[in-house]
Amino acid sequence: MQNDELEPNGPDAPYAHLLAMAREVQLLQSSAALLSWDQETFMPPEGAAHRAKQLALLARLAHERVAGAEFAGLLDEAAAAPTDPAAAVNLRELRRLHERAVRVPPGLVAELAETTSLAQGEWAAARAASDFARFAPWLEKLLQLSRRRAECLGWPAGGEAWDALAEDFEPGMTAQQIAPLFASLRGPLGELVRELRERGQEPDTALLAPAVPVAAQERLARLVAEQLGFDFARGRMDLSTHPFTTSTCSRDVRFTSRFRADHVLDGLGSTMHEVGHGLYEQGLPPTHEGTPLGETVSLGIHESQSRLWENHVGRSREFWEWCTPHLQRVLGNPTPPLTAEAVWRAANVVRPDFIRVEADEATYNLHIAVRFELELALLRGDLEVAGLPAAWNAGYREHLGLEVPDDRRGCLQDVHWSCGMFGYFPTYTLGNLYGAQIFEAATRALPGLPDAIAGGRFALLRDWLGEQVHAQGSRFTAAELCERVCGGPLGADAYLRYLGTKLRAVYRL
Ligand code: ZN
Repeated sequence: MQNDELEPNGPDAPYAHLLAMAREVQLLQSSAALLSWDQETFMPPEGAAHRAKQLALLARLAHERVAGAEFAGLLDEAAAAPTDPAAAVNLRELRRLHERAVRVPPGLVAELAETTSLAQGEWAAARAASDFARFAPWLEKLLQLSRRRAECLGWPAGGEAWDALAEDFEPGMTAQQIAPLFASLRGPLGELVRELRERGQEPDTALLAPAVPVAAQERLARLVAEQLGFDFARGRMDLSTHPFTTSTCSRDVRFTSRFRADHVLDGLGSTMHEVGHGLYEQGLPPTHEGTPLGETVSLGIHESQSRLWENHVGRSREFWEWCTPHLQRVLGNPTPPLTAEAVWRAANVVRPDFIRVEADEATYNLHIAVRFELELALLRGDLEVAGLPAAWNAGYREHLGLEVPDDRRGCLQDVHWSCGMFGYFPTYTLGNLYGAQIFEAATRALPGLPDAIAGGRFALLRDWLGEQVHAQGSRFTAAELCERVCGGPLGADAYLRYLGTKLRAVYRL
């Protein structure tokens, strides 16, 4: 470890001391991550109140260290000494974290951590009963706390509260930058969906209709995860209501999936998605563990990795060349046997529906567009919490042409706002856009990629992503990484090109 070799009293001592503190903060935060993982997987429901207190304490301890005078002093001293490029990245990021932390009172940090932990249980109960009124007071409280936090954090002139909160997830990204991306997606995606549904040949999905025992699906998912390169000696797969990935370090990366007997591709798709997140975490540079340089860049880049494996690989014709025989066995060897062509087409059916996590690729970003507009309106004070269900339903009517039947399939479907995560949703769309650009770059760099995927040789792509993205940690910002890997800035063109080409082929247009 490079930093252990530093002279204890040399000019690098403040930097070494600062990194030691940063590593301690990471230990606190990764302990909290493990408790949150347990809360979603194995914790008995009655444990919720105690768990909320544990998480609040850990959040406060981490916050106090980063916001404290010792941290501030070390940052100033370390900045005065000469630095190498790696140290410059760590100092830049630690300075950013310190400056954000110092602005928020510890009481507010703890109150947010405890409230969000409790609100998740309340949201789950409200969703199960499709009872928005039950969740409304919690949402109201979370909005108030989040607005207060945003005001503490502040934002540059011309910005707004949403920007201050989104900075947690996608550093440097603002509502003003995101809005035009959605504007450039909305029209073309709406037209594509209409074109496919009015003029295309809808794929036959009946071949995937037979119920498949969850245990058999889980075996297939595990096989695919291993084939993609997820290292189970350094990770786990479990079940949860909402699939997610978390890690304490690159040697302990845990993802969850969920399986439904009557939707055989759902569980496989969500597994490939989470494996994409997991490969990123397992591929981070171990030398820089516990420091910003050893962390992922942003949630948008994180999501690019999951979308890339889930969609660009998992919904490709080539992938089904390899995977169809496995699916054939899981489905109990139907006759006539499944063909890769038929499964590939069925995996890409486009049907506007209510639930974001089950959405096809063409309508997915329209779900996100609705949420982005609504959270902006909530944070700006243009929309009252009581008016959320009606506004949600109006958004679905406008963007997806659907009449939402109840709040369970409407504004109660996602966990995010109950976790206080305002400003998070657009990172899904950023992930789709980054993912398409990165996959285009991979296709240019690796001429043998389609054949490798069709042969189940996923190491070609995984190693390339490992070098280009995973092993870089947060050496570059998301924008810099995009320029370096893809040769251009973030945009919607690669995504629209990819989706239009594939879906028109699927629909035989
Ligand atoms: Zn994801």
